[in-house]
Amino acid sequence: MKKYLLQENSWVEAKKYFAENDVVLLPVGSTEQHGPQNPLGTDHLIARALAEETAKQTGTLCLPVVPFGVSSHHKQFWGTISVKPEVLREYVRHICLSLKYYGVKKVVIVNGHGGNASALLEVAREFRERGMFVSIFQWWPASREFLPNIFSSEERGHAAAEETSVNLAIHPHLVDMEKALDEKPRKPPAETAGIIGWIFDTIDYTSSGVFGKASTASIERGKKVFETAIKELVKHVKTVKELEIEDLLSKHPV
Ligand SMILES: [Zn+2]
Repeated sequence: MKKYLLQENSWVEAKKYFAENDVVLLPVGSTEQHGPQNPLGTDHLIARALAEETAKQTGTLCLPVVPFGVSSHHKQFWGTISVKPEVLREYVRHICLSLKYYGVKKVVIVNGHGGNASALLEVAREFRERGMFVSIFQWWPASREFLPNIFSSEERGHAAAEETSVNLAIHPHLVDMEKALDEKPRKPPAETAGIIGWIFDTIDYTSSGVFGKASTASIERGKKVFETAIKELVKHVKTVKELEIEDLLSKHPV
């Protein structure tokens, strides 16, 4: 398949793809602050790059990226656009319903923003009951598992060196390393051991939006992370393609 992006196909070409294939890739991300050095689009631009490269390598159709996600915890930083979890869930649900209508049975979501995960998991669980397998891939656990020593823990936070390095690897012109800084996150008031901190906003932890060390980001390490994530994602897409849909769906009562 030459045209692996849905938006570049005609309906006639899409019809042919859906007649012969039952898998698609859907990148989902966010538009939110990523420190002074990174673009607001970081999460959806990385998700899109991973999904499009995987589409090319596996001959799988890739949908346009969903650029907005659950980001209200970054709202004090200008330019962050957020939707509620139920809005994202319904939006992705309806994308899946459209795909189901054309016979798609397997959707691989490439999620670039951790805050989207619970809304996306709800969709995946619902569709597994309804005859469609939806899996969710996130690049940072993939790199953590397969490149354990490449970044220190303080380089792994939001907008820190790991994420900045991936940006440097895929769109260096959008990163301003002169603005990259290191900021040790502080504890917000009343956060103690045992208290889940998810109610606090980013501003409660950092003034720059960076969690940790960003100044050490490098293209070389970013490339390694990106390539590792692609390798894992390609493997996952191939596996999903080969498996029978019946083996992926919810089981009947015993
Ligand atoms: Zn991010």
